Amino acid sequence: MNKYINPYLIQAYLICPREAWLEYRAIYAEQEDQFLSLGRLIHETSYRKFRRELFVDQRVKIDLFKDGLVAEVKKSSRGEHAARMQLLYYLYYLKREKGLEMEGVLLFPKEKRTEKVRLSPEAEREIEKLLQEMKPVLEADKPPPAKRSRYCRSCAFREFCWA
Ligand code: SF4
Repeated sequence: MNKYINPYLIQAYLICPREAWLEYRAIYAEQEDQFLSLGRLIHETSYRKFRRELFVDQRVKIDLFKDGLVAEVKKSSRGEHAARMQLLYYLYYLKREKGLEMEGVLLFPKEKRTEKVRLSPEAEREIEKLLQEMKPVLEADKPPPAKRSRYCRSCAFREFCWA
């Protein structure tokens, strides 16, 4: 298992492989970007009394939600598939690296919606296939070319890609 792939990279890759390539090299977006700030605010202020943050291996930060579910808070369901895969990777990591079989929940506070997520055998295979696909892209010398998508408008790298 590639220990350098953190769960956020899974989501970034599914939204835009170029963004994941940049993040993989610790080339971070402008931290004061308004969309990042909004995401952080929603993350920090939602369901606060039901959540507890923990670091696993000083690398994977998980939110434990009430009843022992691993939680992932998102500002909208726009990238729901990517968010679900990110959460599945947390569950996969906990199972493979720590022997913990846990379930998860996606939280969309602005939409007042939650969705339970379970690591089924099919989901495990999907994660493994995705990790194999990501490896050569992330390790390539050059980033994938910029490709306009609906995510560019709110991406903190938009100036880097399109200025
Ligand atoms: S601006 Fe668009 S192409 Fe560039 S990293 Fe962000 S999502 Fe990808």
